[in-house]
Amino acid sequence: MKRSFDYLVVGQGLAGSLLAWELEKAGSTVAIIDRHRAGAASRVASGMWNPLTFRLVLKSWRADTLLPVAMEVYTDLCAHFGAEWLHPVNISRSFPDQAYVRLWEEKLLDPAYDAYVRLASAGADTHARLRYPAGRGEVAGAGWLELPPLLAAIRKHFKLKDALFETEFAYADIRLQSDGINWQGVEACKLIFAEGSLLQQNPWFNWIPLKPAQGDVLTLRIPELRLEQIYNAGFFILPLGHDQYRVGATYEWDVLSKLPTEAGKAELLDKFTKAYSGHYEVIDHQSGIRPTVADRRPLLGIHPAHPALGVFNGLGTKGVMTGPYFARQMAAFLQGKSTIEAEADILRFRKRYEKSREAAQKA
Ligand SMILES: Cc1cc2nc3c(=O)[nH]c(=O)nc-3n(C[C@H](O)[C@H](O)[C@H](O)COP(=O)(O)OP(=O)(O)OC[C@H]3O[C@@H](n4cnc5c(N)ncnc54)[C@H](O)[C@@H]3O)c2cc1C
Repeated sequence: MKRSFDYLVVGQGLAGSLLAWELEKAGSTVAIIDRHRAGAASRVASGMWNPLTFRLVLKSWRADTLLPVAMEVYTDLCAHFGAEWLHPVNISRSFPDQAYVRLWEEKLLDPAYDAYVRLASAGADTHARLRYPAGRGEVAGAGWLELPPLLAAIRKHFKLKDALFETEFAYADIRLQSDGINWQGVEACKLIFAEGSLLQQNPWFNWIPLKPAQGDVLTLRIPELRLEQIYNAGFFILPLGHDQYRVGATYEWDVLSKLPTEAGKAELLDKFTKAYSGHYEVIDHQSGIRPTVADRRPLLGIHPAHPALGVFNGLGTKGVMTGPYFARQMAAFLQGKSTIEAEADILRFRKRYEKSREAAQKA
């Protein structure tokens, strides 16, 4: 196996995969270190993208900029692997009450929302057994991506190049050198951490205020429900095909168990059975931890004192839409072609870094 690379990336979730792919596309040599761990978000994520946040019917942060890049990157990846993992599909939003209808109507009149907010198309996807207390609208420009096969294909790509280390990474194994790092005899100019919620344990970057959120999702078989769009009523029902539907997701901010919880399952089934009256069967229950940041922005950058160490993380609840744009930005930054925008730069937390350094010196 090759022992020297431009970049070593720790973690092969969505963040590490997209970054490694962009770096390699731009001509760098890259290797990935990853071992499947319980709680990894990307392998349980439903893969949806949604240009709106539903609570107040507002555009999701930077949706107009992030979405075109996401579509371009995933379309290219699907073409590269000869697969159809990308499913653009409208979201059918069930309105809870008249106040919500008015919010929706305001956006129907706002040209900035033309691409996304629609009246419900007549007849499409209303279902006698689903609840729409005050009617429904549609979100265009939405859809879902099959993440597990995409990540498996990227993993195989690096494995075939002898550039995948399927092993547990230990921080103690890193030797910082004047011109890069050495990890178990493997040298790299830079090591980039993309370890998801486990960033909290990283001794170099634990000053970054990650606020992880556990999420449970269910897979149900619902033979009578023939949905083509994604149904949303404060939770979602996503049609996977073959009478199977993903139902999710919970948000648990306090007690993070990494494993699926009975409370998570009960919460989802409660919401589901209030919205749907018919037969169903639970066929799977999964859980993961979202690497969410206190200010809900991504994390890109290089350590303030150790230029060979970097981070690409913080994709939070909307990794599918956010990941491609910022992976591209991080790759361009690492290759000296671009800067990192202030809102995404880990140096926005510099004061916390300085405090943690002072505390370490006093101890
Ligand atoms: C239930 C749920 C549903 C979601 N649904 C959506 C959705 O519909 N749309 C959307 O956009 N986002 C969704 N998300 C969020 C999305 O999953 C995340 O934004 C994204 O997957 C984060 O990717 P990541 O690579 O940063 O982290 P992760 O996916 O957690 O990847 C980290 C990787 O690093 C590896 N790793 C970490 N430490 C080590 C180590 N020491 N040694 C070796 N390997 C290591 C882990 O095994 C893992 O493979 C959802 C999340 C959850 C939990």
